Amino acid sequence: MSSASSHVAGAAMKLERVSKFYGEVRALDDVSFELQKGEFLTMLGPSGSGKTTSLRAIAGFIQPSEGRLFIDGRDMTGVPPQRRNIGMMFQDYALFPHMTVLENVGYPLETRGIKRAERVKRSMEMLETVGLAHCARRYPRQMSGGQQQRVALARALVFKPDIVLLDEPMAALDKKLRSQMQIEIMHIAKQVGATVVSVTHDQEEALVMSDRIAIFKDGRLAQIGTPQELYTRPNSEFVADFIGEANLLHGRARIEHETCLLEGAAWRAALPKSDPRVAHLAAGQGLCLVLRPERISLAQSSAERSNGAQGIVEDKIYLGVEYRLVVRFTDGTKVNLRSRDVAVIEDLRPGDRVTVGWDAEDIVIIAK
Ligand code: ADP
Ligand code: MG
Repeated sequence: MSSASSHVAGAAMKLERVSKFYGEVRALDDVSFELQKGEFLTMLGPSGSGKTTSLRAIAGFIQPSEGRLFIDGRDMTGVPPQRRNIGMMFQDYALFPHMTVLENVGYPLETRGIKRAERVKRSMEMLETVGLAHCARRYPRQMSGGQQQRVALARALVFKPDIVLLDEPMAALDKKLRSQMQIEIMHIAKQVGATVVSVTHDQEEALVMSDRIAIFKDGRLAQIGTPQELYTRPNSEFVADFIGEANLLHGRARIEHETCLLEGAAWRAALPKSDPRVAHLAAGQGLCLVLRPERISLAQSSAERSNGAQGIVEDKIYLGVEYRLVVRFTDGTKVNLRSRDVAVIEDLRPGDRVTVGWDAEDIVIIAK
């Protein structure tokens, strides 16, 4: 990793230990992260976790109680919103109904004093980018929901902002249109090289659109990383559960010669003591094993496994491409698994005894 100062120079935006208090409420609590130029970052988290507050702090609508904000290496902490070169698309940030599509897109250029001919030229180019040049003379009411969304995006991008902020921009659209717009917006942002911070509580939206995802919990940044990093290496039970589906098994560590045994009441896992995932564990330490449903295998036998458990099939659901199974361990713990191994699964019935297992490589260990 490069030194801290050279990192700041390359960052499009940086939050440095930002907190925001409303009386007793810590809306944001010591949040630090940075954003690279051209990156698409999504802030994801449950309602009330601090996403909108972060976005409003970046936009300049609120001042942090503590900490600093840098845009393009410059300290912008006290600078008012209109003096930050930021584009915005919010759910309730509607188009102007009395203006044509072209005038709507050109509006930010007008407020920046750009002459009409230049305004029309740049607005038309932007409308071409979002595939709506043929709608330039229409009014918003003559456009579909998805088209209006793309006009709003064109308006947010037309003045080449340093950063574009999106706050739940797709929340008002129906599910099918939303999935389509997620992909379109992501492609357009990449095409124009925009640096984007988006907010959502929809994990699928975050996975589809983002280069990196910042997960918020109770005003704090729980973890930040690529979708793959968060899925394969969550740093907490909260993140494991929030991104994708996770089985969380609670147990303890036991050291036996060169092996680190992780044991619950009804399952066990064995890793070499030298494995970096267990190197920091003390004997007797409490832990949580994270197992993804598609990483659990199934055998119709009672062979003991060094990474596995005995159980009983509780439920079997056919999902077309795969089956979903619920298996109950002998101590009552239930795990969900997904399998396409038809040869094994087809004959299984609720009540059947099974052995589940996993590759030690596929487990994530969270120390307590
Ligand atoms: P999110 O966008 O993740 O749903 P917010 O950033 O809007 O969450 O809010 C974070 C926390 O701060 C919540 O507990 C919320 O109630 C509180 N909060 C936000 N804005 C204000 C405000 N203006 N006054 C008091 N509390 C606020
Ligand atoms: Mg919000």
